[in-house]
Amino acid sequence: MDNPIPMTRRSFLATTSCLGAALWAARAFPLPAMGAGFAGGGRVSSQPLADKGFASVRKIGNGVYATVSDPSKGLETVSNGGFIVGTDGALLIEGFRTPAGASFQHAALRQVSSVPVRAALDTHYHFDHTLGNAFYGAQGIPIWAHEKTAPLMVNVYGPGSGPARPERIAAIEKRITDATSDAARERAKGDLNMLKLAFASVDSSAVSLPNRSLEPSSLPLTVDLGGTQAVIESYPGHTPSDLIIRVPQQNVIYTGDLLFNGMYPATSDANLSNWRKTLEMFSGYDKETLFIPGHGPLCGPEGIATLRSVFDDLADQASKMYKAGIPLEEAQQRYDIPERFKDFPIIAWSFCIGPAIAKFYEEFKAGKT
Ligand SMILES: [Zn+2]
Repeated sequence: MDNPIPMTRRSFLATTSCLGAALWAARAFPLPAMGAGFAGGGRVSSQPLADKGFASVRKIGNGVYATVSDPSKGLETVSNGGFIVGTDGALLIEGFRTPAGASFQHAALRQVSSVPVRAALDTHYHFDHTLGNAFYGAQGIPIWAHEKTAPLMVNVYGPGSGPARPERIAAIEKRITDATSDAARERAKGDLNMLKLAFASVDSSAVSLPNRSLEPSSLPLTVDLGGTQAVIESYPGHTPSDLIIRVPQQNVIYTGDLLFNGMYPATSDANLSNWRKTLEMFSGYDKETLFIPGHGPLCGPEGIATLRSVFDDLADQASKMYKAGIPLEEAQQRYDIPERFKDFPIIAWSFCIGPAIAKFYEEFKAGKT
């Protein structure tokens, strides 16, 4: 089943506008599968098990695989994911942006094993992690997620999400027209591309909700796949719906979007103090831990340290501007990318930098930090 969605005029238009988004993504995410010089302690296979350009699947442990996306070559997956295989069952991680992305990962699993798939798990509700769920649904694979994932998907991607779109698009188009500098114009264009990609993704998908809600009180949940255990835990921070999957026997952790490696994080749904506490916890894990981030190359603890220092810098600059009495809207534009992060992709200024500064301002106002 390559394409379960009938091609309507609406989805054709959505696909066409995705081409513009793909060109933008090539600049926004110039990502190799592995960080420069990172070999994962020799655990990451140099030969991919499967490679379609937009993503490749590599063995990273005994029955443990990572799917690493390269959105510059296509937007089928966009996020990273992977799967864990035991003698009795397998667990797929992430629904990706499209059914084609989920199908690619499922086919890679079938290259190495025919065990029943216990579940496909969405690490959180964002469109690039869930809109391919329909593929899993059509295969009869249960879809698991945090209990807040389905309601958030309905709110943000459901039928009621349409009416507000024209105003949101118009507001950004006005920012492009009114921009007083090239930088401000470029940022507004990036915001518009991101929003259009999200809308086009929803329009061209049959939004499929998870059918098993994991309540935080039932976590951690250990899933015994036969010889290999996966442990599902919840640390809301990037969104209210975040799950992580650990393979403790092999020091592997799928972080979802709690880790953006080598890039600025998306913060619009974030609780930054919870997120930073979770990163602090990750930094206490064994130094041989292999992290599969939600976006960016595979990494060790250095990827956690870098994201923590990105947040520290956002907080420091926000604090200085807050103390200097700079109004929020101005502060959001004045954030200055330090030299050491100057090559870090920013998916969109108003999904990454703007909300982070706003959230730090709220914390300062509340006297929390
Ligand atoms: Zn996300």
